[in-house]
Amino acid sequence: MSKENLNPKEIAQAQIKAACDQLNADPSIYEVLKEPAKVMQVSVPVKMDDGSVRTFVGYRSQHNIALGPAKGGLRYHPDVHLDEVIALSMWMTIKCAVVGLPYGGGKGGVVVDPKELSQNELEKLSRGFIRALGDFVSPQKDIPAPDVNTNPQIMAWMMDEYDQIKGFNNPGLITGKQVQLYGSLGRTEATGRGTFIAAREAAERIGLPLEGARVVMQGFGNVSTYAALLFHEAGSKIIAVRDYYGGAYNPDGMDAQELYDYVYNNPENTRKTVVGFPGSEDIESNDALFAIDCEILVPAALENMITSANAHTVSTKIISEGANGPITPEADKILEEKGVLIVPDVLANAGGVTVSYFEWVQNLQNFYWTLEEVNARLERILVDAFEEIYTMKEEKGVSMRVAAYMKAIDAIAYNMKMRGTI
Ligand code: GLU
Repeated sequence: MSKENLNPKEIAQAQIKAACDQLNADPSIYEVLKEPAKVMQVSVPVKMDDGSVRTFVGYRSQHNIALGPAKGGLRYHPDVHLDEVIALSMWMTIKCAVVGLPYGGGKGGVVVDPKELSQNELEKLSRGFIRALGDFVSPQKDIPAPDVNTNPQIMAWMMDEYDQIKGFNNPGLITGKQVQLYGSLGRTEATGRGTFIAAREAAERIGLPLEGARVVMQGFGNVSTYAALLFHEAGSKIIAVRDYYGGAYNPDGMDAQELYDYVYNNPENTRKTVVGFPGSEDIESNDALFAIDCEILVPAALENMITSANAHTVSTKIISEGANGPITPEADKILEEKGVLIVPDVLANAGGVTVSYFEWVQNLQNFYWTLEEVNARLERILVDAFEEIYTMKEEKGVSMRVAAYMKAIDAIAYNMKMRGTI
């Protein structure tokens, strides 16, 4: 078999091209969307605790800003690279348009393993990164947020650094902040809530009861923890979860709250891993995880996890993509042939950026909403977007991924035509 192309930028370009072709779109649309509008690369020197200096490379990509300012997270990971950041910003452009937010797509990352840094070093790096980005980001231009390995504390340091540079408060610079620091109620749980809603809607369409449905999850971070709690509440059975260190498998199902407490409210669990959860067995590899027979699979770690090498063994009815880009295009085809209903990342994990938008609106208005308001608006946006995309899938005979891209590209192209860009 030929070697599979795992370059995320080329994958994102192919996904956009496929939707443009399906739409019979003017070729100039792809011509504009195939590359990011602006990219910034910075080097951030950090004086480490031992007195040595280490330089960290960081990127921010603004893919397209036709529909509004660039929006998207910042990730800290040793494997961050420019093409990955660009691809992630392309997916943000599509995601924001899929759920109708007045945003374009942005994304950033720093090449670093944050597990190797002390809190002090992490703070210096986060402040240094924002200082280096300077006016490339702003509440009107480009609004960062958390992503892989970044969190509300990191957002707080970044906002504070920006405020110090500007000399006044700018809560709308960045989203995903603590509630006590201009954050929004419901933001932390929002991505997982959205991933659950996507799976729930998919289950309803194929007549699968959530009660008793077996759920398998990759990752137990910000996305899957909150999705797991909601699946548990709906009576589904969380039978397997695997994180960076290993897995927890119990065919009888695991209590999501107990699993959460075992990982996050347990001082003895210093690595914060699901491994060793009482009553569970380890899962030796991601391939073994994906091969577990279930009804709902939630890949919520990184991109390129389900590939042509392991897609054949996947045994599920629904996949709700909590991560960005977890399934390669070749794996997509294999899973589609198997009849798996895939809710694509640009819809299934759009809950996070949707509540980020709510947070930004609250910041700009200086007027804060209740949790009920946040969750009700999130629910409506996601349910409506799901319905629109599912209907398009049925009518046009395409996958939900292609349908979602078609919806997004159509909206962006219309906007760019009116502006005179194309
Ligand atoms: N990092 C999240 C994502 O990939 C959230 C982005 C945001 O809230 O701006 O969608």
